[in-house]
Amino acid sequence: MKVSVDRSLCYGSAECAYRAPAVFAFEDGYGVVRPGAAEAAEDPRVREAVREAAEKCPSQAVLLAEGEEPFSG
Ligand code: SF4
Repeated sequence: MKVSVDRSLCYGSAECAYRAPAVFAFEDGYGVVRPGAAEAAEDPRVREAVREAAEKCPSQAVLLAEGEEPFSG
């Protein structure tokens, strides 16, 4: 799973860091993906939290991709 945050969309609600703290942090007013997050996201519970964070991000700034295809829901 590839996880990224589009900083141009993020407005700093910090919800991603709250929902999936193993993968996201909140720094300088933006959600950021922690170093090593790809490994953490291999855990099924973490993956679910990441999916939820992406769905609930109020600005749709959390981007997920799995395998070759972009994650679409
Ligand atoms: S939930 Fe979305 S808007 Fe809020 S900090 Fe994370 S990426 Fe930014």
